[in-house]
Amino acid sequence: MKWLWILGATIVTVMVLLLLVINKPKPMVCTKQGQSKSFSALDYKELESWQQQLIDKAEAVMSNSYNPYSKFAVGAAVLTSDGEIIVGTNFENASYGTTICAERAAIIRANSEGKRKIKAIAIIGRGKDFETTEPVAPCGSCRQVIYEASQIANNDVMVIMSNSKKDKIIVSWISELLPLAFGPKDLGIVL
Ligand SMILES: [Zn+2]
Repeated sequence: MKWLWILGATIVTVMVLLLLVINKPKPMVCTKQGQSKSFSALDYKELESWQQQLIDKAEAVMSNSYNPYSKFAVGAAVLTSDGEIIVGTNFENASYGTTICAERAAIIRANSEGKRKIKAIAIIGRGKDFETTEPVAPCGSCRQVIYEASQIANNDVMVIMSNSKKDKIIVSWISELLPLAFGPKDLGIVL
């Protein structure tokens, strides 16, 4: 009879172990820390003409950048849903935290002109004493504002990021730059 008890106990143990393995929570799939998604870069000549125009408009406004602290000029240009281009540049402040980035300046200026729906935004930046070799990407705050604009327009917003020489340009989307974004829907708001 003893062997029956041992057999029974073994079967129960194996079943419990099997249940534990089956019900084990699956780990979330995510990229490892420090491992960022790779974006392919383009040259200015490879862009469509309207994309080139948007970068050129952003570049032109860089000379108006007010940047006595960072000495880093940024220009941004938004393309509105009715085809208008509205530009913005960074405006710094001695109280650093109140600085306004070029991207937000452009979006808020567009809104002031009654153009709240945007389709794309181009960004370019340069240091006072150096060219940027990598495309200039929007900061976290600006990504959040671009996301809000995408929710207002009910379309994804294309984000065109350029280095100062315009030979390394990344074309992406706000949905790609700010995944799992917090937005109006999280507040139960339908815009
Ligand atoms: Zn910013």
